Order: sequence, then C-alpha cells, then structure tokens
Amino acid sequence: MDIEEHSGGNAVKTIIPLSRRTLLRRGTIVLGSIALIPIAIHSLSGKAGSATKGMLHYQDSPKDGHSCSGCSSFRPPTAPDAETGTCKVLEGPISPHGWCMAYSPR
Ligand code: SF4
Repeated sequence: MDIEEHSGGNAVKTIIPLSRRTLLRRGTIVLGSIALIPIAIHSLSGKAGSATKGMLHYQDSPKDGHSCSGCSSFRPPTAPDAETGTCKVLEGPISPHGWCMAYSPR
C-alpha cells in the first residue's frame, strides 16, 4: 500500500507492506464477489432458472437436513401428480428433496 504525504510542497511516498493474511483476505473477498455476480444478476432480473445444475452443485438428495422444499427459490409442482418442481435459480425440473449451493431457507 502506498501512502503519499506532502511536506512543504514535496511529495514523500511511504510504502507500507501488506501482510500475507491481508492479501489472502482481500483476494478471497474479490474472488467470492466475482463468483456471486451471476446469482446476483439473476435475482435482479427476475427470470427463472438460468443457472445449470452443475454450476451450483445440485444434487437430488438433501444436504445437512436442507432441501429444495424448504428453500425460498423452490416452486412446487403445478400438476397434482408431478414429482418435480422448478427453481428460480436453476434451469430444468428439480426434486423437492434436492439441494444446491444457492439454498436459502424460507
Ligand atoms: S436449494 Fe437450490 S435448486 Fe433447490 S430450490 Fe433452492 S436454489 Fe433451487
């Protein structure tokens, strides 16, 4: 990190080294933000299901007691005999018993 000081009209540059921990923390924040951009854009657009199942590691079974039926993005089946619903985030039919990384409790 560079800090510029002005002393009597002369600029003095002081260099303060960043610690490895600070660099890793900032890098993690930047990479995490980049990874969430598609999800944020999707949620703002209001369109249904454009992410692929692979992108969000969808699985047809619950994880740690959480499943699609308890997620705010889950859309239950419309037909009474249908076994799959849809999702505001993922494309295609999904199981009410499934789960993905975008799980968000109701
Ligand atoms: S857990 Fe994932 S796939 Fe299931 S409803 Fe939520 S966002 Fe959609």
